[in-house]
Amino acid sequence: MSLPLLPGRECGGCVECCRVIPLDLPELAKPTGELCGYCVNGAGCSVHAIRPQTCRVWFCLWRVIELDDDWRPDRSGIIVRPDGIDEGVITLFVIRRSEFLASEDFFAVVAGWLAEGIEVALSVPGPVGFFPARAVVTEWLRPAVEAGDFEGFVGRVVRSLDRLDQHDWQPDGVLARYAVGQA
Ligand code: SF4
Ligand code: SF4
Repeated sequence: MSLPLLPGRECGGCVECCRVIPLDLPELAKPTGELCGYCVNGAGCSVHAIRPQTCRVWFCLWRVIELDDDWRPDRSGIIVRPDGIDEGVITLFVIRRSEFLASEDFFAVVAGWLAEGIEVALSVPGPVGFFPARAVVTEWLRPAVEAGDFEGFVGRVVRSLDRLDQHDWQPDGVLARYAVGQA
């Protein structure tokens, strides 16, 4: 899926999708959660000019929709995933439990989505090489959101994440292969 990007917004120092998204392409395969071997710390993609098409079109929604800079995934610990958006579901992939989860900004944005009729899912990564866990939590969060109960909302988010952490993780079966640029 290729969504129009916000002008002027760049990934900067974030490389989170190069870590968490699995790839299983002829020229590049990497398990879920393994930082791509072409990703150079501090400099980004070392094969940028010839990177796979998948890398060219996959962007998190922080690059697409108006969210504050605090939402950048490496800062917030949350990747707002695009998959599911066609069905009206926004997936918050919580790669790290940060203080941002307990911020008024996070609460306000999620409350806004629910008010617009958008479904919200929470997701957490499993061990490296295993698929993440995910659950739609719209109705679970709704009572706290509609009551304006910030503390209750944070509590419900944390309980959802705790429950997802107990998931029966399934292996993705991807074996690493790095062959970009090789004929
Ligand atoms: S090839 Fe480049 S853009 Fe693609 S996952 Fe690896 S480092 Fe990221
Ligand atoms: S997760 Fe989003 S902000 Fe971070 S590198 Fe990927 S597209 Fe850029």
